[in-house]
Amino acid sequence: MKTCIFCTIASGKTGTDLLFEDEQCAAFHDINPQAPTHILVIPKRHISSLNDLGQVPDTFMHHLFSTTRDLAERLGLSKTGYRVVINTGADGGQTVFHLHLHLLGGRSMHWPPG
Ligand code: 5GP
Ligand code: ZN
Repeated sequence: MKTCIFCTIASGKTGTDLLFEDEQCAAFHDINPQAPTHILVIPKRHISSLNDLGQVPDTFMHHLFSTTRDLAERLGLSKTGYRVVINTGADGGQTVFHLHLHLLGGRSMHWPPG
């Protein structure tokens, strides 16, 4: 497999500051933020996309979502609101093929997305 940038970030081998990490996941600022707060929450193990969810236990996504919820709370987004996005595949706009949740907040979001 080609080197995966998010695996490298999760391993701590880049200079990327982690806002949070535990045994299963890590969170860091998106390099190209689309909102005042734009965090990526990723599993530490390599899973290419939501299409590959069958490879992990049922509790796995719950942990990623509850971590994202806790970060939203910690960053003061819970009251005003926020958006969590998982782009999947080419039509979904996925550009990095390591599963990640975008946590976006700090401004009003539009619907439908472009
Ligand atoms: P996707 O388009 O796959 O849903 O989202 C990938 C996200 O990863 C993009 O928002 C992009 O800005 C972010 N990204 C890509 N490479 C890096 C990197 O090296 N560091 C960080 N922090 N974010 C990255
Ligand atoms: Zn990876």
